[in-house]
Amino acid sequence: DGTAVPLLANLGNPAGAAEAVALGAEGVGLFRTEFLFLSASSAPTVEQQRASYAELLAAFAGKKVVVRVLDAGADKPLPFLNDAHEENPALGLRGLRALRASEDILREQLTALAEADEQTRKAGSGADLWVMAPMVSTVDEAEYFTAIAREYGIRTAGVMVEVPSSALLAEHIFAHADFASIGTNDLTQYTLAADRLLGSVAGFQDPWHPAVLRLIREVGAAGARTGKPVGICGEAAADPLLAVVLVGLGATSLSMAPTALADVRATLLTYSLDDARRIAEAALAATDAATAREAAHAASDSQKERTQ
Ligand code: PEP
Ligand code: MG
Repeated sequence: DGTAVPLLANLGNPAGAAEAVALGAEGVGLFRTEFLFLSASSAPTVEQQRASYAELLAAFAGKKVVVRVLDAGADKPLPFLNDAHEENPALGLRGLRALRASEDILREQLTALAEADEQTRKAGSGADLWVMAPMVSTVDEAEYFTAIAREYGIRTAGVMVEVPSSALLAEHIFAHADFASIGTNDLTQYTLAADRLLGSVAGFQDPWHPAVLRLIREVGAAGARTGKPVGICGEAAADPLLAVVLVGLGATSLSMAPTALADVRATLLTYSLDDARRIAEAALAATDAATAREAAHAASDSQKERTQ
């Protein structure tokens, strides 16, 4: 119906940029910076980081690029950041918590991002750089991160919503953050209290679960009330019908593995925003993930019959 829903790429390395553009990415919705750090025994230098970020920004000149600062801990352990043994690392010093405890690493990353932004702009190949923090679980953390990012001249600073507490307090988070991006992988893990890496509880890791959808609705509604963008960057956005539901819940952009872009785009094109809202309502009313999926399919089928 003319409602624009930018479809963006999740990338873990600037080397994937050309393929993402060829597959129809309108920008980058999640650039995971861990690749720079994972094989290293110490943090990469500002210079090394700047070169990678500049390569990424130039590949998406004129487009939006959302970079996530380092998300270490839990499923992404880093020896020089997470050295203490933790019984439950997913509930431990990870994401922004770990960066806050080693603030020099965060400051170096922001320095490199600001320098790459300036360098590419001067060369005429600048992108619209947005920077966000992972694993934000309190309003105070949102305030902390956006303030420190702005110190370095980052124009658009936001947070990932991956923990139920942030979803429920999204309106207060938006008092500080310019945008939110919902990480449905971790949001599902923390909502269902099921380790996303543990095979024995893999059945719980389903973003169609109505408890997850209700939390996403909270963020979408808070974004609409405050006029702030709400992206989705977890795997959920790559499921075409779930993508429709997410837009119905208030997502303003979707980011996914580039190979999923074509199917999601083709599916979204067949619905209006009102259709998406109706399908989302059907899924929200369900009691579990399987019935939410079925309800969304049924609502979408009856939608199609009405418009034929
Ligand atoms: C998420 O949690 O949904 C997410 C996008 O981040 P990651 O998968 O890197 O934890
Ligand atoms: Mg995550």
